[in-house]
Amino acid sequence: MYQHVQHYAGDPILSLVETFQNDPRPNKISLAIGIYFDNNGKMPLPNSVLTAEKQIGFGVKSYLPMEGHAGFRTEVAKLILGADNPVLTENRVVVVQTLGGSGALKLGAEFIHRWLPQTKMYVSDPTWDNHRGIFEGAGFEVGSYPYYDANTIGVRFTQMCAFFNTLPENTVVLLHPCCHNPTGVDLSPEQWDTILQIVAERKLIPFMDMAYQGFGGDFDSDAYAIRKAVAMNLPLFASCSFSKNMSQYGQRVGALLVLAPNAAEAELVLGQMKLNVRHIYSSPPAQGGLIAYYVLSNKELLIQWQTEVYEMRDRIRQMRQKLYDVLSRRLPEKDFSYFIKQRGMFSYTGLTVAQVQRLRDEFAIYLLDSGRLCVAGLNDGNIDAVADAMAAVFK
Ligand code: PMP
Repeated sequence: MYQHVQHYAGDPILSLVETFQNDPRPNKISLAIGIYFDNNGKMPLPNSVLTAEKQIGFGVKSYLPMEGHAGFRTEVAKLILGADNPVLTENRVVVVQTLGGSGALKLGAEFIHRWLPQTKMYVSDPTWDNHRGIFEGAGFEVGSYPYYDANTIGVRFTQMCAFFNTLPENTVVLLHPCCHNPTGVDLSPEQWDTILQIVAERKLIPFMDMAYQGFGGDFDSDAYAIRKAVAMNLPLFASCSFSKNMSQYGQRVGALLVLAPNAAEAELVLGQMKLNVRHIYSSPPAQGGLIAYYVLSNKELLIQWQTEVYEMRDRIRQMRQKLYDVLSRRLPEKDFSYFIKQRGMFSYTGLTVAQVQRLRDEFAIYLLDSGRLCVAGLNDGNIDAVADAMAAVFK
């Protein structure tokens, strides 16, 4: 009956995790998956989140509404847009609690494809693999725009602008407001100003996917592009995730935010979002949403949580610095400054597929074939081995 069903080869990142798990070498190191680990190689739970978990408890939770917990939705809008953003009182920011950042992308993609069916969409070259899958799954034809420059390990900004200048009205452009995944290479505020000006002139739809707020600069500066798009009154979609910054990976906590032109249209958008949720999964998970609400709505816990995220950010920065120091010492003729310029959990290392393969085969160190390294997987116990091995294969 199911013989005709097409074989699924598996997700490349998750398959690599499996290969790693089956690797018998005791000194193996995985830097492949996008998870934040602490200096002991453990997934930490911030104390602020632990406090909230204890308060929420494990008793029966009723269904949440289709659009999610009302308080959570309000607090998320404040976190993303800034608590005193004037748009918050205009009743035209639609917020839906979603199943992680992935759920927000899916819901946004479905909505745009249904109600603006002619639109095409573009993701950065490269981008998080699942962006393409999610938008194609919603019916989009997905193209890519120039972004990463392998020669400079920076952004092909001129080409990116030129490309955006060719796009027709209502084209969706998926942007990473901070901590670009997979490269770690971000736009500067000035570059954002330029890009968003083009987005406005050409009447494009900016879809900002922010899975790492707080890991780049701080919670406000990481949201610069989103807040600027709101200030420019662009038809913004923004997705966010609490998987990494609240360690809510398995709880599936995220949100989709849409800026509508007015309160009446915001109502229409929210209505269709609810309908779509009802038809797919009915309502979002309660536990994680309540935990996030508790943290975000309690002033002291909010500050404590943000401080804890900054500690994670700073640990990642220290690892970047250490990698830079060791590699620069070992190979002084090479410029490794990109390691300290990149932001967030990931780094495009500049390693070729063959060099990544050598790291895996000779040193039991796992990176993605693209050369992406999860900097948050480095710690005082493994950084020397990783830096030495990288120096060996970079030679
Ligand atoms: N967008 C980006 C850029 C991501 O890196 C991720 C997580 N890897 C997501 C979205 C999805 O987030 P979640 O795991 O909360 O679904």
